[in-house]
Amino acid sequence: MTPPVILSIAGSDCSSGAGIQADLKVAHALGVFSLTAVTCVVSEVPGDVSAIQAIEPELVADQVRICLDTFPVAAVKTGMLYSPEIVGACAPLLRRSGLPLVVDPVMIATAGDPLMLESAITAYESDILPITTLLTPNTDELARLLGCGTITTAARLKEATHALCGKYGCAVLGKGGHLSNRCHDILALPGGQTFEWTRDKISGVSTHGTGCSLSSAIASLLAHGLPLPEAVSSALDFVAQSIAAHHRWQHQGLGIDVLN
Ligand code: PLP
Repeated sequence: MTPPVILSIAGSDCSSGAGIQADLKVAHALGVFSLTAVTCVVSEVPGDVSAIQAIEPELVADQVRICLDTFPVAAVKTGMLYSPEIVGACAPLLRRSGLPLVVDPVMIATAGDPLMLESAITAYESDILPITTLLTPNTDELARLLGCGTITTAARLKEATHALCGKYGCAVLGKGGHLSNRCHDILALPGGQTFEWTRDKISGVSTHGTGCSLSSAIASLLAHGLPLPEAVSSALDFVAQSIAAHHRWQHQGLGIDVLN
């Protein structure tokens, strides 16, 4: 049986915990074939971004174009789009495709390093968010996109998720994994429906790449034909299992974790 196909437009993480490497692993585990359009090469390991080299926007767009022209792509996921030029090069192709689009607005790495140029935010707002099916911001990205203060409670997360859904007219999954010892995730749909999930946090494990894994899991499950709330729910379960089953290596006196 041939698997459904998704396209991941994202950065390369040489340590294979995040970015396109995570997307490929997740899609494969969920029985989906993922094509990849590489936007940036990031020299990094969990907790340390050493260097970023963006790919020429024309080459990014050409990867997207040739993949969409050749394969029966069922859903698209975007991760680290990095610059306004890359956003601008991809957006017309995505708009024309009319495909379900899951957008992880990757802005800052857990380690604190910027993974998006400040100038790309306006390009996201004008070109990508109007064609987005589901936006998956964490609390920092939510606050940045809304222009509000830090989000520190589940009640505030809920309000902000609804506000962003209203602002852009797309479904928004507000990810509250960093809020407390419980993980809160809230899905707001443009029709006004809300879905909420809470679970215990698995502490003491590096969460590098969880956002990438979650958005590619959602795109994969949409490609299997699941409705959005079911796709989000199963993807959250999938990522929680990946964190619980993480790999840990001891090397040079340090522990290094990567999601399974
Ligand atoms: N590196 C790349 C290439 C990514 O696409 C992402 C996505 O969020 C990250 C790093 C984020 O890493 P972290 O989960 O450590 O914030």
